[in-house]
Amino acid sequence: MAPAANLPEPSPEDELDALDLAEGPEKASATVTVVREKCQGYTNCVVAAPNVFDMDDDNIATVLDPRPTGDDLVATRRAVRLCPVDAILLDDSGSGR
Ligand code: SF4
Repeated sequence: MAPAANLPEPSPEDELDALDLAEGPEKASATVTVVREKCQGYTNCVVAAPNVFDMDDDNIATVLDPRPTGDDLVATRRAVRLCPVDAILLDDSGSGR
């Protein structure tokens, strides 16, 4: 399958994420993991959040930054929404969300 060349424009959810970040850095932390068994290598996550995700030699997403903050966290939440097989897990339990 060809890599995702174009992603949708930022959604209202993306803008809400940005507003959350503006409330304070203590709310803006989360832990991200990829379920390798689910990943189908669509690369949407890498396009959406290149500082957080990369593809390995098996064309499976890997996590470069398991605790993204700031703009990278916003991008990671977008990647979660764009993953077609729900292979990205984002644990927001410590962020108050
Ligand atoms: S985690 Fe999801 S978006 Fe990222 S490469 Fe795998 S299937 Fe694609």
